[in-house]
Amino acid sequence: MALTGLQIQKLLPKTNCKECGSNTCLAFAMKLAGKKAELSECPYASEEAKAILGAASEPPVKTGALGSAKVGGEIVLYRHEKTFYNQTLLAVNVNDDDEALSANLAEIKGYLLERVGEQLTFGAIAVTQKQADSARFLGAVKAAAETGLPVILRAKDADTAKEAAALVKGNGGIIAGVSKDSAEALTAAAKENGLIIGVAGESMDDIAQLTAKIKDSGYNDLLMSIPAESLSQRFQLNTVARRAALANYKPMGYSFLHFIDADNMYDILREATNEVCKYGGVLVFPKFDSALISTMMILRQNIYTDPQKPIQMEPGVYKIGEPDENSYVFCTTNFSLTYFLVSGEIENCGLNAWLVIPECEGLSVLTAWAAGKFGGDMIGKFVLAQGLNETQKNKTLIIPGYVAQIKGDIEEALPGWNIMVGAQEASDIESFVNSSLKN
Ligand code: SF4
Repeated sequence: MALTGLQIQKLLPKTNCKECGSNTCLAFAMKLAGKKAELSECPYASEEAKAILGAASEPPVKTGALGSAKVGGEIVLYRHEKTFYNQTLLAVNVNDDDEALSANLAEIKGYLLERVGEQLTFGAIAVTQKQADSARFLGAVKAAAETGLPVILRAKDADTAKEAAALVKGNGGIIAGVSKDSAEALTAAAKENGLIIGVAGESMDDIAQLTAKIKDSGYNDLLMSIPAESLSQRFQLNTVARRAALANYKPMGYSFLHFIDADNMYDILREATNEVCKYGGVLVFPKFDSALISTMMILRQNIYTDPQKPIQMEPGVYKIGEPDENSYVFCTTNFSLTYFLVSGEIENCGLNAWLVIPECEGLSVLTAWAAGKFGGDMIGKFVLAQGLNETQKNKTLIIPGYVAQIKGDIEEALPGWNIMVGAQEASDIESFVNSSLKN
């Protein structure tokens, strides 16, 4: 029977030292009860606690760490049941015979996409051995490790993989393609160098047997590369494996490591979409393509946003350009997407302005208004609380066109202010600014 948070707390040290990342032992116990943490995160857990809680408190899909990123740790099949916690880690492959290796590594390392306030980057680089001569592969591995990203080793044989593993000791990467023949030697290499093992096999059964065997040998930092003959089969197998893990079948309780080996852009896109939507743990693109990668980064961000908690901005007053006391004051909700669209459009107009964002629980304009969280009285009070009544000579507040009906309420709450009804859609802000503010 599952233990409650209070029962778990009795087994913890109760010193509230915070080293597990929770403020109190009780808060950590609640996370354990909800399978959102692992007992190993408390360095002071007693042997008794480990014996009682160890396996019972683990999430059904084991949490793994690649450098500073986490994979796995999931507890549901569908995002709307709760949320997905650790997003698919995206990586790019380079080959050891790549003539432009340094330039490609620099491009991968330097990739950064900023969207709704988040910085989206790669989490690892994979190096594939194409040449029989291992020296070139080892050189490429060394160069990849110098980027600081975890390296995924894809060697032709176990001896080369072992040599490469020693080169990236402590880098937090993966030894990929570990089969039943190479498992013993490469498990030792992974242990010695602090790397994750990417288990491979000819079938799901093969993989389940091998993960169980490696775990019994005392190593449990594993990922699974499940083979499939087609995209539809991959979709099915990913689902079957995740269902098995959630049913507490431990040999399938690991994240996936998938290499896309296709050349054609549409095939790459199809496979990548499947992995991001269907439980991918680590996904390796065959090459760097900025447009394709950006599409997948955005898809991943959308899938891994908590559906019960919209991405939101801190309430406050934001600067657009270099505003002063004579600048206009715009207002919208603290839903991140709304904020970035509105601020981007105002900026594109070349206008220096203030953007007021009250607390609306991350809802969009009409939803917040309908829920009673974006009303005239609260907006007025928020503007006053921010001190704008004292600092602004230009007391003009521009509200979204969709909530024109609250204009009168704001006028009552903000005496002396001119309340203007602005554009309904962010895309119409420019024409509103040109027709109403710039003449
Ligand atoms: Fe309590 Fe352990 Fe967390 Fe410290 S690390 S607060 S002892 S659960």
